[in-house]
Amino acid sequence: MTGYRIIVDKDACEGIFACLTRDPRFVEGEDGLATIDPASDPVPPSGTDEGIIREEDGRIVAEFDDDRADEARQAATACPPGAITVEEC
Ligand code: SF4
Repeated sequence: MTGYRIIVDKDACEGIFACLTRDPRFVEGEDGLATIDPASDPVPPSGTDEGIIREEDGRIVAEFDDDRADEARQAATACPPGAITVEEC
């Protein structure tokens, strides 16, 4: 298990949704921009953490303690404007 934090900068997000093809926890929010909802994953791997998710200063901040950091990093790499940050915590 690895603790990690996903940050989505909504000011930078352009609603392209390359992220959700890499990590199904990313979804389209009511504002047409990306947000994070672990319950949206139809087939979550065993041991998946529901995480702690909050919105602050125009950013979605989600903290998890599971083995899915690589999925989140792939979403971050795929995001054209670089709106997603993944860091250990
Ligand atoms: S890939 Fe990036 S720009 Fe596109 S919806 Fe996801 S966070 Fe937003």
